[in-house]
Amino acid sequence: MQENRYDCVIIGAGPGGLQAAIHLARYNRKVLLIDHGGGRTRHALHIENYLGLELTSGKELVDTGIRQIKSFGAEFRREHVASVRAENGFTVITEKSQYQAPYVIVSVGAVEHPPKIKGMNRFFSRTVFTCVDCDGYRTTGKKLAILGDSLDAMRLAFAMRQMFTPDITLILPAGLMPDDHAELLAEDGIAFWVGNPQEFLGDTVLTGVKLADGQEIACEVVMLSYDYTLNDSCLVGLDLARDGNGTQLSTDPGCETSVKNLFALGALKAGKAQAIIAAGQGAMVGIEINHRLLEL
Ligand SMILES: Cc1cc2nc3c(=O)[nH]c(=O)nc-3n(C[C@H](O)[C@H](O)[C@H](O)COP(=O)(O)OP(=O)(O)OC[C@H]3O[C@@H](n4cnc5c(N)ncnc54)[C@H](O)[C@@H]3O)c2cc1C
Repeated sequence: MQENRYDCVIIGAGPGGLQAAIHLARYNRKVLLIDHGGGRTRHALHIENYLGLELTSGKELVDTGIRQIKSFGAEFRREHVASVRAENGFTVITEKSQYQAPYVIVSVGAVEHPPKIKGMNRFFSRTVFTCVDCDGYRTTGKKLAILGDSLDAMRLAFAMRQMFTPDITLILPAGLMPDDHAELLAEDGIAFWVGNPQEFLGDTVLTGVKLADGQEIACEVVMLSYDYTLNDSCLVGLDLARDGNGTQLSTDPGCETSVKNLFALGALKAGKAQAIIAAGQGAMVGIEINHRLLEL
């Protein structure tokens, strides 16, 4: 195992990690960014809410970012971080090596858990969406089905009705609907079905959702509302404070976690998971770490 010392190790090539690397590398700091590939940003086929980029894809954003950080001298390694130890600074351990630094930025994101639905790959991020802030706009005026497994999906239906479209069918598993909510949905003209989605219908254009009982619900677009988990297994063992739900990491306004000099960005921390927000956090943290590194 080789040992390597850096000013800062960044885990995760989401927009936050990449932006932090750009800033730190442009102070001529010794920076390593480690990423094992994949990630939510890469799955975004259309990003059109990022200032200065009329339309891009997450893949384009990330690939450009990786080229950019290398151009300023940051190192990039395709490795999986297994753990981070906090003793005399930090040791970041991958399957191949270990790296030391006084500062670590974690930008490892999260992963959603929708049920297995036939045809998902065909439509995901095209007409089947997971994020209102990202793709809600794309449902404007369309025939929308909302699929979920918690009462959050019902709140989402009311919100989508206010912002984007009156033509909504909510599909929930049995047992989730409190009595009075059926009336409230009816008042807002939101159709409601109990069932488990099995298949997205249509060859290239989405035409509907088929439920396990054979019922077919017509729609042009779908919004999924399912749980997600953080990619935070590499942080097990660190004494990190979490938010009220015990899920996302709590940080101060400067993105510093309860472990001093360990910063968290993007979906990992409480707040809005948007590419431009994560990038802003990365810039802020890069500047802050550089200040702490200065010996004045
Ligand atoms: C379908 C879809 C569409 C979206 N559309 C938009 C949009 O239009 N606009 C917008 O602002 N946002 C959009 N988003 C959300 C956005 O992409 C992210 O929430 C945001 O960019 C923040 O990402 P992140 O940095 O938290 O995580 P990610 O982008 O998921 O990056 C995390 C990175 O960490 C790496 N990683 C994880 N664990 C490890 C480990 N142990 N070792 C090494 N590497 C690791 C992953 O490989 C990944 O590259 C969309 C998301 C999805 C899924």
